[in-house]
Order: sequence, then structure tokens, then C-alpha cells
Amino acid sequence: MADSKTPGETKVTGLRAPKPCVMCGKPSDRKFHPFCSKHCADLDLGKWLNGSYAIPVVEEDGAEFDEEN
Ligand SMILES: [Zn+2]
Repeated sequence: MADSKTPGETKVTGLRAPKPCVMCGKPSDRKFHPFCSKHCADLDLGKWLNGSYAIPVVEEDGAEFDEEN
């Protein structure tokens, strides 16, 4: 009873179905994974640059308004 194969689940077609581009939903390209194209990759980068993604900024200074008079 050495069942090394799981019937029905051993059919490997070689290529996995491409995941949709995280930007536009089109099938992603391996070259630009997880995007479909450089365009979408650039869009994502732009999002970062524009600050659309909330990047937590840790301010350890504490004193943002320090009057030294
Ligand atoms: Zn895309």
C-alpha cells in the first residue's frame, strides 16, 4: 500500500496558470512577475514613490516642535 501518487492530483501540465497581474488583473508575465508588463511594474513603483502605500515612519525624535527660546 505504498501510495506515492495521489490519483487525480499528479497531473502536472508543466506550467502553472499565471497569476493575474496585481495591478490590472491581466495574466502576469514571468519576466515582470507579479505584473503583466513593465508598465504595470512601473505603476506599482510609482505608487510607492507617491506614497500611496502607507509606509510607517517611526519618528524617534519625539520633539517635532522644540522651541529653544
Ligand atoms: Zn498589468
